[in-house]
Amino acid sequence: MNNTHTLLGKIKTGNALWDDYLEFLKLKEDDELDSFFHLAQKIKIQNFKNQLKIYIPNKRFPAVSVTGNECALNCQHCSKKYLEGMKPILNPIELEKFLLHLSKNNGVGALISGGCDENGSVPLKSFLDVIKSIKNKTNLIINAHTGLLDENTAQKLAESKVDIISFDINIDEEIIHNIYRLEKNIEDYKNAINLLKKYNLNIIPHICVGLFYGKLHKELDSIKFIKQILVNPSIIVLIALIPPINSEKAKKFVAPNPIDIAKVIAVNRFVFPKAELSLGCMRPRGPLRFEIEKYALMAGVNRIEIPMKKTLSWAKKRFPGISFEFFSACCAISKDYEKLAESFGKDIKRYSKI
Ligand code: SF4
Repeated sequence: MNNTHTLLGKIKTGNALWDDYLEFLKLKEDDELDSFFHLAQKIKIQNFKNQLKIYIPNKRFPAVSVTGNECALNCQHCSKKYLEGMKPILNPIELEKFLLHLSKNNGVGALISGGCDENGSVPLKSFLDVIKSIKNKTNLIINAHTGLLDENTAQKLAESKVDIISFDINIDEEIIHNIYRLEKNIEDYKNAINLLKKYNLNIIPHICVGLFYGKLHKELDSIKFIKQILVNPSIIVLIALIPPINSEKAKKFVAPNPIDIAKVIAVNRFVFPKAELSLGCMRPRGPLRFEIEKYALMAGVNRIEIPMKKTLSWAKKRFPGISFEFFSACCAISKDYEKLAESFGKDIKRYSKI
């Protein structure tokens, strides 16, 4: 086994192999990790200055579920609860009306999402013409969750000029079978990504840390996969399991450890020094929230969706001179859209006393 110093040296000089990153992910002691987080921070500052971009989707960038509260999978970790926070819009005419109204009322964009069918696809087909028409008529930024998809959907998404495809990278058959309860395999996920690539769609990979009952499992395989297939993505979003509560299955899950989340973020920072890394919206918000945000910042994220005020106060002390930029949008929007998504007024008022 490498000692920590050798491991750090390999990562610093760009000589680390995947096995070294695996070893890093196994490190336990907080104090051993400090020097790695320090390196991650240094790389972040070299590429993105001492700056943090803050994303507040709010009413200007709402999330829509095209299946309402319905999902054929009813995954172990979710049980449809993520859909409850989205606006249910079940038919294309309503979606068009909603998005046109949003555009006329200072909207920036929308996340078009929903539950899955039994094949693991978000049933977007009947909404694609509306997305195309909205992209023609307005400046709204459209972020779509597709799940697994077929060629026709990928082609139509490309024709619609959708801006972002948020895609959960999951290279873990145990999760696919036992948690998603899907009769699919890794090849199906690879095929879906290849289709998105074939049609030049802007894939923003999301990695969910701790999906395997709250423990680290094959997150490194997801990172490897992103490196192999997307090479140098511009943005990677890191999210984390919110463990289920109050049910029989809750007993199998624990909340992911904030340090585990940070270690996965740090590996992303080492492997993709020039990628913007975001701590996305799906993450535990309870007592662990501050620790998750704090460690994520230490591990090198330069984007975060709705942080606590306390996190920003902490960041000011920990990274003297840090500057904050605010956007009313999903955290996966490209730099080209930053002007459009600039935040103002009450969006940032809540942070005014930092
Ligand atoms: S993680 Fe970021 S990009 Fe993905 S849905 Fe949440 S806010 Fe949007």
